[in-house]
Amino acid sequence: MAFKPADKIQDLQYFGEFGGVNPSISDSSTYTFISAKTMFDTFEGNADGCYLYSRHSSPSNLYLGEALAAMEGTETANVSASGMGAITPVLMQLCNAGEHIVSSRTVYGGTYAFLKNFISKFNIKTTFVDITDLDVVEAAITKNTKVLYCEAVSNPLLEVADIKGLSALAKKHNLKLVVDNTFSPLSISPAKYGADIVIHSLTKFINGSSDTVGGVVCGTQEFINDLRNVNSGASMLLGATMDSLRAASVLKNMRTLHIRMKQHSFNAGFLADKFEADGLKTVYPGLVSHPSHLLFKSMMNAEYGFGGILTIDAGTLEKANELMELMQHENLGNLAVSLGFYKTLFSSPGSSTSSEIPAKEQKEMGLSDGLIRFSIGLDNDIERTYHRMKSCMVKVGVLS
Ligand code: PLP
Repeated sequence: MAFKPADKIQDLQYFGEFGGVNPSISDSSTYTFISAKTMFDTFEGNADGCYLYSRHSSPSNLYLGEALAAMEGTETANVSASGMGAITPVLMQLCNAGEHIVSSRTVYGGTYAFLKNFISKFNIKTTFVDITDLDVVEAAITKNTKVLYCEAVSNPLLEVADIKGLSALAKKHNLKLVVDNTFSPLSISPAKYGADIVIHSLTKFINGSSDTVGGVVCGTQEFINDLRNVNSGASMLLGATMDSLRAASVLKNMRTLHIRMKQHSFNAGFLADKFEADGLKTVYPGLVSHPSHLLFKSMMNAEYGFGGILTIDAGTLEKANELMELMQHENLGNLAVSLGFYKTLFSSPGSSTSSEIPAKEQKEMGLSDGLIRFSIGLDNDIERTYHRMKSCMVKVGVLS
């Protein structure tokens, strides 16, 4: 039977303390005990249903984690204060000094910087590869490699990872496959194709209202227990804990994620078709011209579409900036980083979210100066939006 992630979320039902239709928020950083022995057992993780301290766990965070694990089809999940607060402990947990990571070269700039400049301080080296070429990926694996890292759909180039193929490589070489699924929630379920660990920046589509940062690691109970271990767990000890009030608010927003993803995908697909037909260099996994269109199609939970992100090439950075400023002036969206908002957001990744990647490497991976990344909003009449965007493009000379 098809995996139905939104149904899994819908089937989760929680009631609040007084019969509320939403679960009560645990507005406490610490918890009291009648017995000192139970307190000790809780600290050791041996007292089910008891809470000690909200960096360790809290009811609100557990509810949200449970919903995200249900969505991704993993045993459990651990929420964190940001997407980076999910990515960094996972990699530090999986690798010791002297070990090695093979990562896609097209990943979010912060992840790239962490791998290249930060975790390398602990003698954990990373080889960046073209993740779409499984031979190249395998050739980069050494006897010290512990992790294969990629984004299901990459930021910002929208490369699509062959999760099944990567998982086979991971199994063959005894590695963990870690997949950041921030760009394709519901559309792609990486665990179904063999990802060991699935990560999201909740800041984006999942929360969807651009009012908070958050992250999650979805995986096995064993791995999440490792991350939370009070003596050796990277999430526990590095301490990027999500606040309970935020967890409760993200959980409420998750209830509409399926509707939002369908509309984001519909609108992005409509614009991508039109922009391409107008002669713009357009990248969107739903376009037949996308090199991994069929791969995405073979993995996707079809009802959620190909996602809300597309890119166009405006030719030069100057033209890209002029166009974005004009579109913002016309109230077609915001010149802003991030994604998954009700309103369209656009930015020029080379000088913003991927600026951590040196210019030479940006060129090698195909990240051009004039690239504009669009996170397409929930516009009710996308045809109207298209005509208004097109007139901006004609005005600044991106289209004639
Ligand atoms: N992963 C991807 C694909 C992202 O685009 C981002 C942020 O833009 C992150 C991770 C980091 O998430 P956060 O900003 O919530 O730490």
